[in-house]
Amino acid sequence: MYGRILLKDMETQVIALLKKLVSIDSAYPNEGKIIAYLEKFFEKNGYKTKRQKVEANRYNLLVEKGTGNKSILLYSHVDTVTAASGWTDNPLTLKISGDRASGLGAWDMKGGMVVNILSFLRHNPKKNKLKLAFCVDEENISKGGHILANSDFMEDVECIISPEPAFFHGNQGIVTGRTGRAVFELKINANPKHYALYEKKYDMNFFVADLVFRLGSIYKNSHDRKQFVFVRKIDSHSLGISTPQQMTLELDSSVIPPYTNQDIMEMIKKEINWCGLKYNNYFKTSLQYVKRETPFLESYEVEKKNRYLKKLSESILKNTGKKAVAYFRSSVADENIFGSKGMTVLGIGPTGNNAHSANEWVSLSSLKKLYNILNNFLEIAR
Ligand SMILES: [Zn+2]
Repeated sequence: MYGRILLKDMETQVIALLKKLVSIDSAYPNEGKIIAYLEKFFEKNGYKTKRQKVEANRYNLLVEKGTGNKSILLYSHVDTVTAASGWTDNPLTLKISGDRASGLGAWDMKGGMVVNILSFLRHNPKKNKLKLAFCVDEENISKGGHILANSDFMEDVECIISPEPAFFHGNQGIVTGRTGRAVFELKINANPKHYALYEKKYDMNFFVADLVFRLGSIYKNSHDRKQFVFVRKIDSHSLGISTPQQMTLELDSSVIPPYTNQDIMEMIKKEINWCGLKYNNYFKTSLQYVKRETPFLESYEVEKKNRYLKKLSESILKNTGKKAVAYFRSSVADENIFGSKGMTVLGIGPTGNNAHSANEWVSLSSLKKLYNILNNFLEIAR
């Protein structure tokens, strides 16, 4: 069905494939079924696939066509979040009403995945390779993305296209940068004081209050580029009838390029030191990254004069009649992994709504437009 006689009826193809992909539950960490389906799908269409091991029973899937020493990669993640409460219909049954196709992951990002697949099947690269990568765990801690980014498969990749949902600017928008994000753990210790000896200067709560207030100075917001630190968790311990002897804070942060998560850590340390002096260093502090299996995502930004960005902008103008809008997004995704390694990564996605919540939907007409934009881009970007 998805062989060479493609494009007779694009919309039917999009709907049929989207319906199938949505029907396969792929909420992380259970992406096994959808990877197996895609593997068979490409084999049936005459392509060799490669499983890339991420961890026990979890694999990314890689496909490629063409020859040459450069390639363009169409990226998608196969996982979704688990269905939120409030769905009016079965989230795994694609429901079409007018232009809206609703189902779990329809917008984030099985719609984009369908466009990637159909574009791959249709396009015949003349000089270079065209690659497809399907990653697991993006909605969690990007285990699949990290394995992919560090693999040989990426060595000849010159440009990565990621059709994640377009939150802004519709089909004209190109995401060319993202903030970085890290979570830090701050431990504060002090000798507890008996109630009888209570004084404000021994009360860790005032130290923490001052610090949280000072962290506000890290906040920045210019043209939707948001930098901030906030307390996402706080835990306090007192021994019997005494002042707190230990508090642990988790600080969540967002950083604007060219600054890194390490720079944010230094900014936080500066504020901690300021508070330390104010309280005569009565409180002992230690700050470190919260430990997790993958590194936190770093910020990135693609240069304005990047040639693939220019080609993609050309294609958008040609296919929509409107000027492309390159924009920065204040959130993180697998794109950060590639971008912060210096690779060109461009986000262009379909429109829709309710990502990660009930009744998520994707616009069918925007998928079609995306398909045209992508195919034209592949023709001219060689
Ligand atoms: Zn996504």
